[in-house]
Amino acid sequence: MAGDIAHRVEQLLAGPHPLPIVTAGDPVLRTPAPRYDGQLDDVLLADLIVAMRETMHAAPGVGLAAPQIGVPLALAVLEDAAAVPPAVADARDRRPLPFRAIVNPSYDAIGTDRAAFYEGCLSVPGYQAVTVRAHRVRLRCVDEHGAAVDEELSGWPARIVAHETDHLAGVLYLDRAELRSLASTGEYLSRWSQPDPDAAGLGLGFAPGG
Ligand code: ZN
Repeated sequence: MAGDIAHRVEQLLAGPHPLPIVTAGDPVLRTPAPRYDGQLDDVLLADLIVAMRETMHAAPGVGLAAPQIGVPLALAVLEDAAAVPPAVADARDRRPLPFRAIVNPSYDAIGTDRAAFYEGCLSVPGYQAVTVRAHRVRLRCVDEHGAAVDEELSGWPARIVAHETDHLAGVLYLDRAELRSLASTGEYLSRWSQPDPDAAGLGLGFAPGG
């Protein structure tokens, strides 16, 4: 009910900041999020988005979906400074993605190009796995002011859009990941942080790119 969710968000925003991030095992991460349809008034929605951005920065992460803070609404925030070495940025087509909120998003793959790279999730702390995703996607949503968005993104920004939009459908990246690539963050950083996952494929026994 609209009143219930608004009350829950008010309580959440009155609590500690950055907001606590819920982790895998919480059913909210496995339940499709209801569309945002005015359940929050404009001020509460704006306050929620500010708090989500702050929480994403603190984590730190490059995206945060509302279910990850326990709020069952179809919205997410994205922002990536792409602060990685140039060789990594080039290989992964990782370019800065300015801050934005996406509301009721959907995406479709454009073309058949796929990209396989290590990916992680704030709700699955401590691990990374290679996940194959479309190199280019078409994003359709509205922004936090209700303006319609229909645009194409490629490379790492496309991956972020897909990852966060999947959250709103109750999907975690592990559902799409090559599980043999699973690496603790320590092993990932010490062994497999090359620009592409070819060495990890040889070492762990999987075919990068499926
Ligand atoms: Zn995630």
